[in-house]
Amino acid sequence: MSAEPDVVNLLSSLIRYDTQNFGGGRSRGETPCAEFIAGLLRDAGYEPQLWHRPDSPDRANVVLRLPGRDSELEGLVVQGHLDVVPVEADEWSVDPFGGVVRDGYVYGRGAADMKDMCSSMLATLLQWAREDAGPRRDLVFAFVADEEDAGQWGAEWLVAEHPELFAGCAAAVGEDGGVCTPMRAADGSIVRLYPISCAERGTMHVRLTARGASGHASRPSGDDAVRRLLDALHRLTHHDWPLRLSDVVAAQLVALADPLGYEVDLDDEASIAALVDALGEDAGPLRFTTRVSSTPTMLSAGSKVNVVPGVATAEVDVRCPPGAVDETDAMLAELIGDKVEWEYSSRQDPVSSPVGGPWYDALCAAVRAADPEGVPFPNCMGGGTDAKAFAKLGMATYGFTPLGPDPDGRRFAGVHGVDERVPLESLRWGQRVLRDFLERV
Ligand SMILES: [Zn+2]
Repeated sequence: MSAEPDVVNLLSSLIRYDTQNFGGGRSRGETPCAEFIAGLLRDAGYEPQLWHRPDSPDRANVVLRLPGRDSELEGLVVQGHLDVVPVEADEWSVDPFGGVVRDGYVYGRGAADMKDMCSSMLATLLQWAREDAGPRRDLVFAFVADEEDAGQWGAEWLVAEHPELFAGCAAAVGEDGGVCTPMRAADGSIVRLYPISCAERGTMHVRLTARGASGHASRPSGDDAVRRLLDALHRLTHHDWPLRLSDVVAAQLVALADPLGYEVDLDDEASIAALVDALGEDAGPLRFTTRVSSTPTMLSAGSKVNVVPGVATAEVDVRCPPGAVDETDAMLAELIGDKVEWEYSSRQDPVSSPVGGPWYDALCAAVRAADPEGVPFPNCMGGGTDAKAFAKLGMATYGFTPLGPDPDGRRFAGVHGVDERVPLESLRWGQRVLRDFLERV
């Protein structure tokens, strides 16, 4: 007998697997959670496969290819990650791995990032098995490891070493979008908007190393390693990166302005700034995705106050809008200058997929079918997800992890923080919308 395909119970079950990812390969491991999912799918009659790097059996991914009714159609990947960020358990009001249902929410680490989507994927598969239903096109479901670090045990590894798993797939749907976001319009009314993520800024992590003569601090040379590093960081942090509207952000500004009753002139930087200001908190990543950002996050030099160190290092987090990679490379070189060595410690280019076209239109249609007054809009994410890995296989990538409105106004909360939770009704709505999308697309 297959399990009751209830998305709330499934989410509670997934949360009870502690899949904390501490970064740098340190992890509690995703395998028990992956085996639980594979077991449910096998009981329902599917043939899922577990994949892991040969040296890391504790970091498993689950992949299931489901043939559609029309094998002529291009396939679609549906992906979610099983790992979660670490918790400070003392700060929580509930056990972060208890799968607690309380006050209309499911609580727990991963409740909204992104075991909610994984449970919706799973519930949809289990419902199809019970009802002898299924998709039109081939779907490849991927429940992956290690998204919260670099994907080296998850999506990046699967794409590099087992691209055959995704053969024939022209698009991938995953983190994050499709979440009901009530926004205040210019006339004070509330409009329910639904971001559909079509792009992500690139992530360029830059490591700077300055060198100079070491010696006694009472006899400064005036041109030592620390000073060289500080000069470069000063230029990086004070640079006014120019406005760089990617296609998706340009479409996003227009798509937000219209239903909210604002005007925006894309040729006028002041008009764009005024719209972002007017949106306030609701602007979300729009405050950052209109240009490059360069943020120093780690500094290291010296071991004693009266000793001039010979080496000083810094790490800088640089995010780059789609279409601005080459100019960012060039500007970084200019700003850092020739007195400091630098390299990319990691580098993932931006991704961007069409606003419009069959995939995007089908995502919007699924939202409108469930909320006829809801307004989907294209979104550019400020950070990064596993979409960057799947894009390497030439797929269009979209963020769509739907969560609907809660009748009492609850919202998901606590992502990467304390008391992470998702409203039950939002989750149930999201699962229905995901299923509807996967059947129609
Ligand atoms: Zn996530």
